[in-house]
Amino acid sequence: MDVRRNSALEALGITAYVPRGRPVDTTAAQPLVATGPAAWMDWTTLAATVRGCTRCGLCEKRTQTVFGTGDIRARLMVIGEAPGAEEDRQGEPFVGRAGQLLNSMLRAAGFERPQVYIANVLKCRPPNNRDPATEETDRCLPYLLRQIQLIDPAVILCLGRIAAQRLLERDDTIARMRGRIHRLGQRPVVVTYHPAYLLRSPTEKRKSWEDLKLAMGVLASGDGA
Ligand code: URA
Repeated sequence: MDVRRNSALEALGITAYVPRGRPVDTTAAQPLVATGPAAWMDWTTLAATVRGCTRCGLCEKRTQTVFGTGDIRARLMVIGEAPGAEEDRQGEPFVGRAGQLLNSMLRAAGFERPQVYIANVLKCRPPNNRDPATEETDRCLPYLLRQIQLIDPAVILCLGRIAAQRLLERDDTIARMRGRIHRLGQRPVVVTYHPAYLLRSPTEKRKSWEDLKLAMGVLASGDGA
């Protein structure tokens, strides 16, 4: 094990890396259908459309949209909830403390941040870090679904209850959604705790590491089915 991965594991409060075998079985698949004009857009058009988007009220208060960052041919796509204050300022997802922890988690899994693609369910910051409203996610989700179609990742890692509920259209707790493989179209989706929650509840990091290993197992198996 290399030194960087070791220290990343340490940041997660974990000492041993044990590659996982065949992942847990799947639940019913959620179709991956990007609706509306986004459905036919190429990457450049999609990015420009998001930049100028006024489909919900969040556009009025944003500094800028946060489209996503990383390798658009990534095998691993990470999906969070919505930009916070720092992300709104910098125009990049997960740049605050939660982002640093996410970087450590990714490194522990063998990825540097530029090797994955990171995006959010919402492209604009909800004021006062409130939860995204259903109307906001309904309007924004087609952008993310189109990003997923264009990137075509081998596995999606979904961070936190809200991102998982909106992406998978499930009204479930994180405890019930994590630890198994969901499907969005054909794509395997693994749900884990949001890094901001892990900062508040570090004892849950071990479960998150199990989820990461599950995602890595999907990548290693080439399918996850
Ligand atoms: N939390 C998220 O869900 N996304 C970000 O980009 C930052 C914090």
